[in-house]
Amino acid sequence: MHRFQVRPEDIAGNILTLRGQEARHLSKVLRLGQGEEVLAFDNSGLEYRARVEQVNQDEVVCAILAQYETGREPGLDVFLLQGLPKLDKMELIIQKTTELGVRSIIPVRTARAVMQLEGKKAQDRVERWRKIAAEAAKQCGRPKVPGIGQVVDLEEGLRALPQGTMVLAAFEAEETLGLAEALDAWPGVPIALVIGPEGGFDPREIACLKAQGARSVSLGPRILRTETAGMAALTMILYQLGDLGKAGAGSPRATGLCLHHSDF
Ligand code: SAM
Repeated sequence: MHRFQVRPEDIAGNILTLRGQEARHLSKVLRLGQGEEVLAFDNSGLEYRARVEQVNQDEVVCAILAQYETGREPGLDVFLLQGLPKLDKMELIIQKTTELGVRSIIPVRTARAVMQLEGKKAQDRVERWRKIAAEAAKQCGRPKVPGIGQVVDLEEGLRALPQGTMVLAAFEAEETLGLAEALDAWPGVPIALVIGPEGGFDPREIACLKAQGARSVSLGPRILRTETAGMAALTMILYQLGDLGKAGAGSPRATGLCLHHSDF
């Protein structure tokens, strides 16, 4: 069944309205009509099963048949502060970490990043990245689209994190603490992963991260590319903390409000 993104304000009682590009995609591209059933999500964490009632030029009115939690959002928040990588690697990083379960991604400027993004160019790139995240969320069945922050300096990115977040800075020269051991002491708080660009972190950045309470962790014995490191670390975290690798997690759970055809 096709999935569509709506805004919370597009839902009124048992009626859900697709607008703009989502409406055109349903009617013009997929050519769905009255009576067809679709899925929709509004970033609240819920998913809706709905029946198409009316197809207009730029909006499609649907009747909600059921709403439920999908079980597809991770039970813990993992943020990714990604050192700006070269070219369009960020699109790959966003797509894959969305599928894996990242909560939000903050693109950060670092000393050795080759890509320098400022002003309108940065804004335009962030808009494109947000579309990539929305498409990836739709594809993998997540009811929430990960946030994509503005391009900021590393310290600003750290300040944007929720109070009490466990910050883990991936550092290939780290010889004492591995990611696995760092997670053994996980106190049940949000986690932020900090990944450097192709050139890695400048020693001053590592010092700054540690001064802000971050722990430097090794991801293992090999040097991973920047686009591999975030995905690998996110996978290790979500596997070790119980989100990935389990069966049956993605089964819809009714939220009590389960509307049936007879309600209309
Ligand atoms: N300085 C590296 C070198 O000597 O080739 C290049 C950095 S690596 C390509 C890009 C980023 O991935 C690093 O800044 C780090 O955040 C992460 N990374 C890669 N391999 C890692 C490892 N084995 N342990 C921890 N972090 C790693």
